[in-house]
Amino acid sequence: MKKLIDKLEAEKNLEREEFKMLLTCEDDYLHERARAVRESFFGNQIYMRGLIEFTNYCKNDCYYCGLRCGNSDVVRYRLTFEQILECCAEGHELGFRTFVLQGGEDPYYTDDMLADLCSTIKATYPDCAITLSLGERSYDSYKRLFDAGADRYLLRQETSSDEHYAMLHPPEMTLSARKKCLWDLKEIGYQVGCGFMVGSPGQTLDHLVDDLFFIKELDPAMVGIGPFIPHKSSPYAEEKQGDLRLTLNCLAILRLMKPNLLLPATTALGTIEETGREMGVLAGGNVVMPNLSPLDAREKYMLYDNKICTDDGARKCRGCIARRMKKIGCEIAVTRGDYVHV
Ligand code: SAH
Repeated sequence: MKKLIDKLEAEKNLEREEFKMLLTCEDDYLHERARAVRESFFGNQIYMRGLIEFTNYCKNDCYYCGLRCGNSDVVRYRLTFEQILECCAEGHELGFRTFVLQGGEDPYYTDDMLADLCSTIKATYPDCAITLSLGERSYDSYKRLFDAGADRYLLRQETSSDEHYAMLHPPEMTLSARKKCLWDLKEIGYQVGCGFMVGSPGQTLDHLVDDLFFIKELDPAMVGIGPFIPHKSSPYAEEKQGDLRLTLNCLAILRLMKPNLLLPATTALGTIEETGREMGVLAGGNVVMPNLSPLDAREKYMLYDNKICTDDGARKCRGCIARRMKKIGCEIAVTRGDYVHV
């Protein structure tokens, strides 16, 4: 095991079978090594992003997601411009220097509206970064929003196998369209985040290795990884959730592959295990994304069952995450926490 980890750390890559061995590794040593690499690059500083879930309308029907258009049990909402700015105001006061605007793919928000939103946030908080996570859009739309002030974009590829992608999405959605978006975003100059769910229905170890190879090729600034968690009103309601150790192993492997990578310990990780986010940081993660959404929106943004932090306000979430990080010897950094090229 140690030899494989040495090789990964030195060469930043492995053969398929070697990756599979590390993915299934049961030894915490993998996490310890990844943690040491995180510490050598970032010290004990953990970056914080304020998540604003501003619409749960979605035109897509991703089979795993609670917000898919086919789910008629969801009470839909959209935040107004003013509500979004209030979230930013509260977040800024609490030390957030990145705002993540995330939502379903909601055509209600035109490029004009989103560009206006980005430029207003940027003018009000020039010391902050804006991250968008709005799904697939055209090159021109991405460019327009970048020019209006957006700095980063999160779009998970979800899986890097065409066949597996087709198991998770309706036929009108394709992996090649998703990948094109990621390459467009990179070309425009965004700090790009991709990512995948661990343990999504039909996923094999080979699929995960495909994800690692794709990430190697894309060379993103960030990778969002969380366990799949079933949603009760989805076609995959009866599937089992993703495995904790396998998720942590993915984080650790990516940290060893890319020491400077922005790697969040996700809410989904904190949902399957009470101290999941702490474990994520201890396995190499260096970002946390507490929620800034208004309380009545949170319970309606249910990507999966039992999502945590839906009862607590922004201040409480901020305090909670700071305490959790302190307990494991880490500290929340009040900075934008940009990606640094090496
Ligand atoms: N519409 C945006 C935001 C999607 S929600 C977009 O397309 O990018 C953000 C992420 O939540 C998704 O990329 C997906 O990986 C994750 N997610 C959705 N349903 C999930 C589930 N049931 N379990 C775990 N993660 C889920």
